[in-house]
Amino acid sequence: FAKAAGPGRYEVFAPEMRAQMERRARVEAALHEALAAGQFSLFVQPQRALGSGNTCGAELLLRWLHPELGQVSPAEFIPLAEDSGLISVIGAWVLQQGCLLAAAWREQGWRGSVSVNVSALQLRSAPLIEQVDRALLASALPAEALTIELTESVLMDDVDATADVLLALARRGVRVSIDDFGTGYSSLAYLQRLPLHELKIDRAFVSGIGIDGHSEAIIETVLAMAGTLGMETVAEGVETAAQAAFLAKLGCDAIQGYWLARPMPVAEFPRWLAAAPAYSP
Ligand code: C2E
Ligand code: MG
Ligand code: MG
Ligand code: MG
Repeated sequence: FAKAAGPGRYEVFAPEMRAQMERRARVEAALHEALAAGQFSLFVQPQRALGSGNTCGAELLLRWLHPELGQVSPAEFIPLAEDSGLISVIGAWVLQQGCLLAAAWREQGWRGSVSVNVSALQLRSAPLIEQVDRALLASALPAEALTIELTESVLMDDVDATADVLLALARRGVRVSIDDFGTGYSSLAYLQRLPLHELKIDRAFVSGIGIDGHSEAIIETVLAMAGTLGMETVAEGVETAAQAAFLAKLGCDAIQGYWLARPMPVAEFPRWLAAAPAYSP
């Protein structure tokens, strides 16, 4: 490695970059077949209301198991699905399946809302509203039992286009949630004008509870702001009882994270609900 600091750096890094590009091409090619081949499945992670202890919601998380690549993380394949335009059909599938699942769980007596992640490109290039209408119609799901999660950066990216879509969702009664809140740069004045129902505090801040005073201060400020704007709050990535207790004390509405439950295959959710652990923080 004596040469590595000089021109040799090329030799050290080039094969790695090449491998990355090859992986990318391979994953993207495989992604084209994934939906038709039935390689996608949905996992679900419950959310608990800190006041009542009820399971007030559940987030659907997409999983992809490829016969050769194995389990591919959404953090890797969602950006590729966006670049290739496949996100539109994949997103429509998630919405459709999500509404059918939500309707089945309602039928069994559950009164929570099911959250579906929608990415930037889905919002812009796909006929999202038509997809939502079709999914609600086919499942006979009441609109308020569906929550659409959009990241903060999506909201701030193209303000006018986003506002139109959010208004259309709000008119239907679909809930809208800002995912990963605190990681972007939202303008408060702008947030206040949008029909938003819920704000999800990013895991980065939750993991700082008890460790980092800045994270705690940010959480406190965000909760106060959400209260002022009339938005409900969910903290994500809650991993410990101490984090849950801190959030409960500050009046956060709901929590989601490994402490309550890891994401599980959707087929397991009714059993989990029936056996939902007693409320404690
Ligand atoms: P997200 O929407 O912020 O989802 C939360 C992520 O945090 C999930 O990762 C979940 O498994 C993980 N998580 C939940 N609780 C904990 C915890 O206590 N500790 C830790 N360390 N992690 C926790 P996942 O499933 O890998 O998804 C990653 C991201 O991929 C999601 O972030 C979302 O942005 C995107 N994604 C997942 N499914 C979909 C989908 O159907 N459509 C779109 N467009 N994006 C999706
Ligand atoms: Mg999410
Ligand atoms: Mg999130
Ligand atoms: Mg996230």
